[in-house]
Amino acid sequence: MDKSELYAGETELKEQFNEKIDTSIRFIPLGGGNEASCSSFLFSFDDIHILVDCGVRYNSRKRYPDYSYLTRLLGSWSKIQAVLVTHSHMDHCGAILPIMQNLPSEKIYATIPTREILERILPFQLEFESEIIDDETLNNEIKLLKTSLFNEKIKIISEISFFKPLTFTSKKRGTVLEVIPVPSGHILGSSGFLFKYVGKTIFFSSDYQPQQQYSIGQKPYIPKQNGLDCIILDGTNFYMPTQSLPLQRKEQEKFIIESVNRALNQHQLIVFPVQATGHAQEIIKIIDNAMLNGSIKTVPVFLDGFINEVLKIYRKEFKRQKSVFCSSNVQNRAKDLRIEDILTFPTIIITTSKNFLKPNSRSYDYVSHINNKNLPHLIMSQFDPSAPNTFTKLSLDMQNLLLNLNVVPFRLETHISAKDSINLIQKTAPNKVILTHSIVRSSISRSLEGLHPLKFPKNCSVIQSINNMPIYLRGNKNAIKYI
Ligand SMILES: [Zn+2]
Ligand SMILES: [Zn+2]
Repeated sequence: MDKSELYAGETELKEQFNEKIDTSIRFIPLGGGNEASCSSFLFSFDDIHILVDCGVRYNSRKRYPDYSYLTRLLGSWSKIQAVLVTHSHMDHCGAILPIMQNLPSEKIYATIPTREILERILPFQLEFESEIIDDETLNNEIKLLKTSLFNEKIKIISEISFFKPLTFTSKKRGTVLEVIPVPSGHILGSSGFLFKYVGKTIFFSSDYQPQQQYSIGQKPYIPKQNGLDCIILDGTNFYMPTQSLPLQRKEQEKFIIESVNRALNQHQLIVFPVQATGHAQEIIKIIDNAMLNGSIKTVPVFLDGFINEVLKIYRKEFKRQKSVFCSSNVQNRAKDLRIEDILTFPTIIITTSKNFLKPNSRSYDYVSHINNKNLPHLIMSQFDPSAPNTFTKLSLDMQNLLLNLNVVPFRLETHISAKDSINLIQKTAPNKVILTHSIVRSSISRSLEGLHPLKFPKNCSVIQSINNMPIYLRGNKNAIKYI
């Protein structure tokens, strides 16, 4: 990759951002470019400026995307025509409060499930974070946010529906931008976008899983052959073509069912500490389906923690689609049922938080009770305690707890795999692929052949986006040309 292709120096940048100059199409990650968090992408189609996502960065002093860069470039927030929220994970929407402070809420767009999940989880998330993040990291940002402002404004954001285009017109050129929301298959309500402008089509995948998940009623959007000029792709797994755990969805599912089956036969209690939105619902579906088709024994499945709140929205959405989310084997933990009562018979507990080592989380309560009473158990976790660097962050107590437990790490991928990414690129052969949401594992190589042994289509180049580095996509008769 030639650096000059991507970056412009400060002076050059100002010149190029002069709106009198025909910039046509420009893409800038303000966060979430070369990191799998804090997504916020500024698209400019001439004088139409669209912000996609407004995420937060965890455990960092720099919690928000670089919005000072945005105001420096555009002059003011009022130049933004729309903020499109792709889904309800905090790394994509956790900075919605500063957006609401700067823009009318009608300019924020999301699908109904995204809005509903966000409405339930954001106030809780802020409360939870302010408890667990130490004051120094917090930097007073969360404390200053007014959740009352959020509660009032979230109700009036604009709704989007899959395949129903939004249109924006350039005042300068009179040309129309068409934005088509498409299902991204990542979690309930998650959306990618097709941007159509001056004869060019850009597919922005957002967090993307083209393999259909059980907990999402809708088929993920898969672009048709040769229909695209540019793909801006979820690069979460792009630099990880090999891993010790299964890479394909079906194998991941098989691994979970087999582990659960073995544990049930050995009369172990099973705990899944999971993320409340997305993973939890998929685990519920996999286990419930396995019980219904007889591949594992039927035992009660208890849900605890914040999953229950989010599950209400999933149930509602399934009902809307004239279906039922799960069987009666799966039940919310009744308030009067104590942990010690639940942990006396064969059972599966699906509980938040994802990292079960967070004290005071529901997951921690189960796990520490199991440990104290020395109960036979299996902890199925996406957090791998044997991974290097993990121990260094933990206290001695936590390390000891961890060493006493039977933890089996597993994967259940809600992002596109490296293999599927390559297939998609080969099939659609766009001129350009821009990777976002990627942790760059090694120095960015000049060509992808260095990273993947697979051949790329001719005339297709793949680049890693980098925060605050603009990528210009200029119109041309036959193809998008990149400067
Ligand atoms: Zn996500
Ligand atoms: Zn994400």
